[in-house]
Amino acid sequence: MSTVHDTAADLAAALADGATTSVELTQLHLDRIAEVDARVHAFLHVDGDGALADAAESDARRARGEARGPLDGVPIAVKDVLTTRGLPTTCGSRILEGWVPPYDATVVSRLREAGLPILGKTNMDEFAMGSSTEHSAYGPTRNPWDLDRIPGGSGGGSAAAVAAFEAPLAIGTDTGGSIRQPGAVTGTVGVKPTYGGVSRYGLVALANSLDQAGPVTRTVLDAAMLHDVIGGHDPRDSTSIDQAWPSFTEAARAGATGDLSGVRIGVITEMQGKGWQPGVMQRFTESVDTMVAAGAEVVEVSCPSFVHALAAYYLILPAEASSNLAKFDAMRYGLRVVPEGDPSAEEVMRATRDAGFGDEVKRRIILGTYALSSGYYDAYYGQAQKVRTLISRDFDAAFAQVDVLVSPTAPTTAFRLGEKLDDPMAMYLNDLATIPANLAGVPGISVPNGLADEDGLPVGLQILAPALADDRVYRVGAAAEALLTQAWGGPLLDKAAGLEGVSR
Ligand code: GLN
Repeated sequence: MSTVHDTAADLAAALADGATTSVELTQLHLDRIAEVDARVHAFLHVDGDGALADAAESDARRARGEARGPLDGVPIAVKDVLTTRGLPTTCGSRILEGWVPPYDATVVSRLREAGLPILGKTNMDEFAMGSSTEHSAYGPTRNPWDLDRIPGGSGGGSAAAVAAFEAPLAIGTDTGGSIRQPGAVTGTVGVKPTYGGVSRYGLVALANSLDQAGPVTRTVLDAAMLHDVIGGHDPRDSTSIDQAWPSFTEAARAGATGDLSGVRIGVITEMQGKGWQPGVMQRFTESVDTMVAAGAEVVEVSCPSFVHALAAYYLILPAEASSNLAKFDAMRYGLRVVPEGDPSAEEVMRATRDAGFGDEVKRRIILGTYALSSGYYDAYYGQAQKVRTLISRDFDAAFAQVDVLVSPTAPTTAFRLGEKLDDPMAMYLNDLATIPANLAGVPGISVPNGLADEDGLPVGLQILAPALADDRVYRVGAAAEALLTQAWGGPLLDKAAGLEGVSR
């Protein structure tokens, strides 16, 4: 019998065998959500009726022999930053409270076309700004490993939903690490595709030149199967890459043997040392040894400009965000606050933005507006763009020597709720290892890499590949996953203690 513990690939196989139905699976996950989400708060909106109706259609299709693909009937959760026709989309912000988009994001329409019932929308830091999901206007999500800890961010809702077995699959978005870092701290798998590999149409923009949607799952194979559904060219996104992509599912299956012979792996010099939690580094070093034992050749590679990535990112991102968020003007979407008397349009706008945006969003609007102002533009934004070029060159030089680069995904394990909330700089430092990939547009994955000795919490291994080589991310990711799962005696999430006592 299928359970919420099954991977999406298992559920797909059970559907294909006629051992279960989509209605049954969807109900199973809705029941799990009802059971645990009051504690986890992974969802902002659950669409039980919609998901069950889609599931019934999927079952009818399958009965006619017209299943649309392997994942037809497997339910999924979607981060609340992607528009969903008829379903609320808030981006974790008060300013979009009550907004129901009239259209689907391309990622969402591809999920619907492939027959995946959508369970609901997941919690996130407001407009995807943050590393802990504490900046959500609707309250934080909690980490299923320890409910007093953060699930990462900004896509903590998607990661926690998958880690708590509320959904077998989820969609996240990654602008500076928001898929990979939540993956690392919840013991799940997260993939940031090559920039342009997955359509951004209907993804409410944080920073257009960095944003990329991708899979959030419990296994590398599940991520690959989902990527095959959502990826590929979209004429509605002018930055979408117009090329045929190889099957990521096949790449993941090929990697699952765990054989890494002939694979050249680069360890990034700049992503270790001071500031990295010892237990995280220990797991990382061990995983490199494990990959060597499986045939990989390891070299140390220096990417000197990576040390400036964080600074460059926190100029480029606020600059783009401040411009993107200008459209929330009280006239078009969601919230509208009208001050007493006979206010002007500008006064309505000011009151709405004051009430509708949280502190982190305001901070970044101010930073971005400043960085773009004439007189400072060259000194800040212009410089940051130059650093961005240097980072791409470092990647090019590194990938001339190695097939993939590896590092810990995040410098620490999940910290406690509230611990970094009043210290933006401490919060930003979580993205140290993930940001370079966004600045350069290259793909990356985080796979579970055991538990840190100090706190027993999950650690992530990040694997980065050259732009367009997403298949390599899946091949090497699946190999690493096979080796590490074996080393840890089975799937890590079976050890998560935060929801102990809750039936599975
Ligand atoms: N934590 C990063 C930030 O706050 C990343 C955000 C993201 O990837 N959406 O900007």
